[in-house]
Amino acid sequence: MARGKKIYEGKAKILFEGPEPGTIVQYFKDDATAFNAEKKDVIDGKGVLNNRLSEYFMTGLTQIGVPTHFLKRLNMREQLVRNCEIIPLEVIVRNFAAGSMSKRLGIEEGTQLPRPIVEYCYKDDSLGDPLVSEEHIAAFGWASQQDMDDILGLALRVNDYLSGVMYGVGIRLIDFKIEIGRVYEGDFQRLVVADEISPDSCRLWDIESGQKLDKDVFRRDLGSLTDAYAEVARRLGVLPKGTGPQKPTLVN
Ligand code: UDP
Repeated sequence: MARGKKIYEGKAKILFEGPEPGTIVQYFKDDATAFNAEKKDVIDGKGVLNNRLSEYFMTGLTQIGVPTHFLKRLNMREQLVRNCEIIPLEVIVRNFAAGSMSKRLGIEEGTQLPRPIVEYCYKDDSLGDPLVSEEHIAAFGWASQQDMDDILGLALRVNDYLSGVMYGVGIRLIDFKIEIGRVYEGDFQRLVVADEISPDSCRLWDIESGQKLDKDVFRRDLGSLTDAYAEVARRLGVLPKGTGPQKPTLVN
């Protein structure tokens, strides 16, 4: 499928004009960045895995009635999505303490939280995506009160879906980040889950061993990132059998 002009290049993806008005082609790169792009590398195969995994999660969300921007996967590295106006917030949902929350509040990583906690960061790399409150969001007009109610609902539904899917394959969903887009349909607008959902934007720990299967493998130099992502994909049945790291087979 012919893609149009490049619209935007981010850290992990490139966006091109899509074949129909209102569509965009999302191209998944192999680039990995962490700590606001202070640490960078190219990880062979990461883009292919994230394209497949994001397709898997977005399709599952659509099936349970959670609206997303996803239309279809086009090839190994590209997917067709609806063009939407991204709300400039990173919506983070946490089930267990980790990362910046552990640092900020002095809670040991892996501590279960009393209930899922939703946080908002203002999307601005030059500021390091600072944590903001609903007061900032309302005062600066980034989203209306109605939007915030809808965003909270979407975030918690995505959390329930992803936690359940992961639990089913022996993985604990520690936290994740989503982005929300506005799509316009005639005079109406609605909010959809946009961007991507992949191990780049989630923390995923093996329930038995605690092994990290997400971007912390890259951030903290814990081994092969593609092996970790391929393990998630293999457990979910996204990778054809026989590819990715194999679990030892028990012979009795
Ligand atoms: N996250 C993300 N993009 C960001 C910041 C965070 O995808 O720009 C994800 C991150 O992978 C984790 C969750 O959001 O799953 C919470 O991240 P945290 O605030 O702990 O930040 P970090 O420790 O990654 O700086």
